[in-house]
Amino acid sequence: MRRKLLRELAQEGITDRRVLDAMFVVPRHLFFEKAFVEKAYENNAFPIGEGQTISQPYTVAYQTQLLNVQATDKVLEIGTGSGYQACVLAEMGARVITIERNHKLFEKARQLIAQLGYQNITVVFGDGYEGAPVYAPFDKILVTAAAPQVPPKLFEQLKTGGVMVIPVGNDDSQNMLKITKLSETDYKEETGPMFKFVPMLKGKID
Ligand code: SAH
Repeated sequence: MRRKLLRELAQEGITDRRVLDAMFVVPRHLFFEKAFVEKAYENNAFPIGEGQTISQPYTVAYQTQLLNVQATDKVLEIGTGSGYQACVLAEMGARVITIERNHKLFEKARQLIAQLGYQNITVVFGDGYEGAPVYAPFDKILVTAAAPQVPPKLFEQLKTGGVMVIPVGNDDSQNMLKITKLSETDYKEETGPMFKFVPMLKGKID
């Protein structure tokens, strides 16, 4: 089933072998409630509780490919959710810091990631709008919730030469943006296709 899903992704334009290989390794069904495991290798988003979703495999693949992750990268992810995307980044060799604002999801993802044995992932309970200053600066930042604009603190915490992939727009649809930081004040912005993410919300909830 995993192989079939990856063939579909390749047909839809995911050409980076390293992304497909990482997604082949990470068992997406373990991020689902037991009753729904048969849904895990369909190319769809799926509820993970707390009104949130695990992103569609195509979306994970698209964002990861755009981020051009290198094994030497320190990557910040905003929106841990199930933890699946963080594991895909870690499988590509990156050191991953991932932030979740919902305590239930944070705790669940933290435990699952530990069980799976990923030692290069740190799960942080916090508000992604603040970033993770103790771990900054980052080579790459990946935002997996819909932002109204690029959060200034995330731009600050990106290295010069670093890349941020972030869906920016309203609650109905967002443009995938690739931001390359050129200096403390200057950046290059490339606009990609439209996606629909759950919103990036301020503050955290216990
Ligand atoms: N990357 C996830 C899917 C993300 S869904 C996966 O692989 O499963 C978006 C997640 O972002 C949700 O879990 C939501 O609670 C979280 N989120 C929304 N706003 C946030 C914020 N300001 N800081 C941290 N997490 C946030």
